[in-house]
Amino acid sequence: MGNTPPNKPDSEVYSFADPSIESKPMDIEAIPEETKAGSEAGSEAGSESDIGVTHFPVEPFIAKGGGTPGRFLGLLIGALIIGAVLDYVFSLVSGFSMRFFLLFPIVFGSLYGWFVGKLGHAIRARSGAGSTAVVAIVFMCGMLTYSGFQFGYYLIGTDPDLKPGESFFESLDRRATKGYIIHGKRGSKTNLGYTGTWIYWMIEMMITAGFATYVARSKTSGPYCEVCDRWNRKRYFGPFRFDAVVGHKAFVAGEPTAMFVPGASDHKVKITVYDCPTCPEDPLAIQYTGTIGSGKTMITHAAFMVYPHEALPAFEAIEMIAGQVKG
Ligand SMILES: [Zn+2]
Repeated sequence: MGNTPPNKPDSEVYSFADPSIESKPMDIEAIPEETKAGSEAGSEAGSESDIGVTHFPVEPFIAKGGGTPGRFLGLLIGALIIGAVLDYVFSLVSGFSMRFFLLFPIVFGSLYGWFVGKLGHAIRARSGAGSTAVVAIVFMCGMLTYSGFQFGYYLIGTDPDLKPGESFFESLDRRATKGYIIHGKRGSKTNLGYTGTWIYWMIEMMITAGFATYVARSKTSGPYCEVCDRWNRKRYFGPFRFDAVVGHKAFVAGEPTAMFVPGASDHKVKITVYDCPTCPEDPLAIQYTGTIGSGKTMITHAAFMVYPHEALPAFEAIEMIAGQVKG
């Protein structure tokens, strides 16, 4: 590397700077180049890297979804029980939690979806493109659970204005007549009025069900082996420190050997490989997550692709090479 003739230092710099933007082969060539003494590196590098970058046919991962009627029934019953428990717990603190405009349904719905998603995962009721059963169950039960929360507010008696003998619907009517009050930043108060309060409750119900569905869906749509009827095994590679953008492009293109670019980077890349331990010939579902920066300015480059199983050694090689710069 250091033995380059002193008359062409600029062309050396360019040959490294340009390819890192548009083509990856030159970057890979940087690894074997160190072992080969530099004389014919210029002409041989091109052909060498053509062989070095292996291309695999890839496609985006899409969960199929599925399950037996028994599993979906189990999920439905479980979702109702989880909802009842959560309603009870939250109705005890409802006077407090309802004060925060739109925050309550997001927290409540996500928490509900987390529990139901855990259950769905455990009993192997899957959501995906081919089955809407999980989504339908969680969305319906999410709406019901929100209603149950309002009922718990009435029943358990945290409603301070509750009148003796008042029915649930009478209590809702009274509360809507009084109107939901939004507390502004500078102590200002806005009363939504009768209709506005009902609309607000409907929106809260939809947000609760929406967040519940979103979270539960993410927990039940991972790679799955239909033959063995089990979730795929998960293996984590990384986090690595290499260029997250170059890595992302190569990953999506099906070129894992071009993903890792030597050199320090503050980017963080994680790779998760899913496969079935008893079906080693099956395709691999591989998730790529590269992050640049942190906090509010963080940019994420993510992709979820299906690779042929022959690609596994290429990913294990990244673990071996880039593993040295873990962090
Ligand atoms: Zn299998």
